[in-house]
Formats: sequence, C-alpha cells, structure tokens
Amino acid sequence: MYVRPAGGNPDRGADAILVALPSARMTPSYVETHRRGELADRAARAAELLRECRLCPRACGVDRSAGELGHCQVGPGAEVASAGPHFGEERPLVGRGGSGTIFLASCNLRCVFCQNYDISQELRGVPASPTELARMMIGLQEMGCHNINFVTPSHQVPAILAALGPAIEAGLRVPLVYNSSGYDSIETLALLRGVFDIYMPDLKTLDPRCAELYLRAADYPEAAKGAVREMHRQVGDLVLDDRAVATRGILLRHLVMPADLAATREALRFVRDEISPQTYVNLMAQWHPAGEAHRFPEIDRPLRRGEYERAVETAAAEGICRLDERPAKLMLVWR
Ligand code: SF4
Repeated sequence: MYVRPAGGNPDRGADAILVALPSARMTPSYVETHRRGELADRAARAAELLRECRLCPRACGVDRSAGELGHCQVGPGAEVASAGPHFGEERPLVGRGGSGTIFLASCNLRCVFCQNYDISQELRGVPASPTELARMMIGLQEMGCHNINFVTPSHQVPAILAALGPAIEAGLRVPLVYNSSGYDSIETLALLRGVFDIYMPDLKTLDPRCAELYLRAADYPEAAKGAVREMHRQVGDLVLDDRAVATRGILLRHLVMPADLAATREALRFVRDEISPQTYVNLMAQWHPAGEAHRFPEIDRPLRRGEYERAVETAAAEGICRLDERPAKLMLVWR
C-alpha cells in the first residue's frame, strides 16, 4: 500500500515522497475458497469442460477426457515443460526470492512468432499427477519463491485445480499467478475467481487481421478484451506489499512488434478506457523473429530501437502511468 507520509517535504516532487508502509501479508484467496469447500466443485466443473472441450475460445469440442486432442494437443492431465525459481519476470513478481515458475507444455494459442516456440509448439511436457504438481508448488514455496507462476495455464486449468487442494492441505500459502496469452474464455475464468490472486495476461493485438495471420485466431481481439475485463473485475489493479512484491491484481504484457503490427496505441487506449489507467503494463521489447516468423517477411527482423521508443511515447501520451521499468533500461544498451 502506498501512502503519502505526514511531514513530507513540500518542495519535493509528489513522486519523491511516495513510500511503502508495512502491511500485513495477505492470505491468498484460495485458502478461503478451499475452506468453504468450493475448490473441489470448481475442479469437477473444469474437468466437465474437457468432455467437449470449450476450456478456451477455440471451443474445439473434442473429448479430451477420452484422449482426443484439440488445437492445444494436450490430454486431460498436467504436462509440465519445466519448473523453478525465475528471476527474469516482472520485478513485482520476482522480489528477492524469485517467481516460482511452472511452464506448462504447449499452448492454446500457438502464435507463429512465439518467443517460447520450443515449449509452446515443439516439446512434449512431462506428465504430472495432481500429487506431483502439488509437490512442485510446495517445493517452489520452500525455495523462497513469492508466488506460483503458471505459464500458459489456459488449456490445463482442470489439472491445476485438481492439484491445488492437496497443495493447500500441504501448506501452500503464496499467491498464484495466471500467466496466459489472454486467449481465455469467460466461463473458465469464472471458475478461477477466488483462486488466482494475480493475473498476467498478454494483450497481443487488437487488430483482427494480425490476429488471424500470426495468432491463427481472428477472434483474439474480442476474446482477449473480454478476458482482461473479467480478470480486472476479479482482482483489480496491482497491489504490492511492503517488500514491493505483488499480492493481488493484474499485470498486463504487450509485446511491441515490427511495423506496429501489434496495434500498440489501440491496445493501450483500451487499457486506459476500459480497464484502468493504473494498470501495471509491461511494454515488452524482446521481440525477435522466432518460430515460423521467417515465413512472413514483414516480421522477419528484429525490433528497431525507434519502434520501441515510439511505443513508450504512445503509452505516455495515452495516460498509462505504471510501466514496467526494465524494458526502458534495456533501451540504454540497445544496439
Ligand atoms: S483448451 Fe485445447 S482442446 Fe480445449 S478448446 Fe482450447 S485449444 Fe481446443
């Protein structure tokens, strides 16, 4: 919680006298949801969605519980690509202990330019039972991680919910992060209310042509706008504790693309007008032509410094005031 202390020097700028005060560490909301006996019901309802799969907006309609595979190519159980403390995520997630990242294999979106193409579209994950996934969460908490950060969770929500009960019984008490592409259905997100305290969706593009061509999902803009609205409705703007570590709220990622193909101004305007100008935004600068980008000459090149600088200027002009500071530092060493 940030407050203005009594007796601050009136000659200093307003930003200079904003300080963090100690606050009680929050208990993650899943503890109360579990205590009320609702978690098992959510897990059962999520598993039901697998039968004619409509866990995400693709609504493939395959019976994953019977082994059929849809666009995401994953069965009913968890498949994990890797797990461990991650110090490269946004600072409010990393703190001193790191973000306890569990990379789930595959993805329901599968962008042609995916910056993690090997995990999202090439590698098979290692199957993990609910007990094994629960052990991973507890292990990351015991290593001092501030949160459990599920990367690309959208197509594996039933497996996460099935593992969460045993994890809570075993003492899990750090918040969960839902780190998705933003291609999430409202029906599935409704099952996560009171379970995930932190949402970190991408808002990749609001241009349907770009979405169809590079994301293979022409409905991405409308689906992502609906998902981000629902996520913000559940958890609000980002809240930090006295260590500047996130306890609840939304962080939004937007990857700046060559030739402004991500329609950055439109995305930021949506965030300002329909979410909140206080939204914590990471304007990501790490674009490189990964995956199948070589098949598209217009995106088969690195991002130029000027393109990223224009995106930052656009954010300022559109009134987005909580930008992640790491990409701006990267500009200092830009080639
Ligand atoms: S989760 Fe997978 S199978 Fe289910 S609708 Fe989405 S892409 Fe299709």
